[in-house]
Amino acid sequence: MADINTQVLLASRPKDGIAPDNFRTVTTPLPTAGSGEVLVRNVWLSIDPYMRGRMSDAKSYVPAAALDHPMVGQTVGEVVVSNDRRFAPGDMVLTQLGWQHYGVARGSELTKVDASRVPASYYLGVLGMPGVTAWFGLTEIGQPKPGETLVVSAASGAVGSVVGQLGKLAGCRVVGIAGGAQKCRHVVDELGFDACVDHRAGRLLDDLRAACPAGVDVDFENVGGAVLDAVLAVMNVRSRIVICGLIAEYDAATAYGYTRMRSVLVNRIRMQGMIVFDWKDRYPEALARLIPLVAGGKIRYRESVVDGLENAPNALMDVLRGKNFGKQLVRIA
Ligand code: NDP
Repeated sequence: MADINTQVLLASRPKDGIAPDNFRTVTTPLPTAGSGEVLVRNVWLSIDPYMRGRMSDAKSYVPAAALDHPMVGQTVGEVVVSNDRRFAPGDMVLTQLGWQHYGVARGSELTKVDASRVPASYYLGVLGMPGVTAWFGLTEIGQPKPGETLVVSAASGAVGSVVGQLGKLAGCRVVGIAGGAQKCRHVVDELGFDACVDHRAGRLLDDLRAACPAGVDVDFENVGGAVLDAVLAVMNVRSRIVICGLIAEYDAATAYGYTRMRSVLVNRIRMQGMIVFDWKDRYPEALARLIPLVAGGKIRYRESVVDGLENAPNALMDVLRGKNFGKQLVRIA
């Protein structure tokens, strides 16, 4: 075990857009675990779009990340020292320890993960917060019915890939929206969506109309901006829109002006925002449904891995520009 810790701190808040100098890497002494505490060596760091929001101090559903502290984030790590009877060295745990090699947490802040049937990293993606988001957002807000058309944006990503595959299992026609031909091919050929529209090809609305001849009954919205505006033009009467994410608007200096909100009115569309924490007491329910689907190969899953904690800032910037292809992770150890 090393005797120093490496941390990536939030050094400043982005002004126009996120930049490498918003972060600073430091070394510190290795922390020690006190009574009831556990020392964890982080192995996997999850990179998520919400991190851009936490870098800002604008009013939100959670407090801003603190300046000069390790940037916030979930990790999966290995217990090194445990002063809590529930954990033993070698156990793999889900943590909120953020962007650092080692961290100390109270046992009550850790969740043991079972890596016997699926890789431990899956608990940051398909079997973690993104998978649970897909489950509750789709089943409880989208409420897809057999034969309906479901559209999913950021379709190859951590949330979108699960939403679309759950939509197929629910008997829907599922149309993805993704950036680039390679992602679209993956969405259809590997994930089993019925069609995928490339939002970077310059014909989004025409391609959507062609892919959704019966219109759209459920939109699981991960992107916003021009993508949502195009989907609004093809929504059916009494359709539903799950506003899960608006990533196209997180880091932009200028807001996108919606031109098609009238569609919400004339079609009596039910449009509802969601935050996965609203279901925080029901995560086990979602995981009980997702684990057998993933372990049994009914849900396919792809990761995008970069090595080294020092590359975490670039990995986050890549996610905000759509350069990731699948759930973005940093392999720390
Ligand atoms: P992804 O793995 O899907 O990665 C983000 C993807 O968004 C990129 O790969 C890219 O896909 C797309 N993207 C990024 N920037 C733009 C842009 N400017 N215009 C269009 N597309 C863009 O991330 P997640 O699955 O983790 O998250 C997906 C969404 O879900 C995010 O908006 C996130 O904030 C939201 N979310 C919400 C939660 C909630 O509780 N409400 C919980 C978890 C996630 P492509 O190249 O295909 O366009």
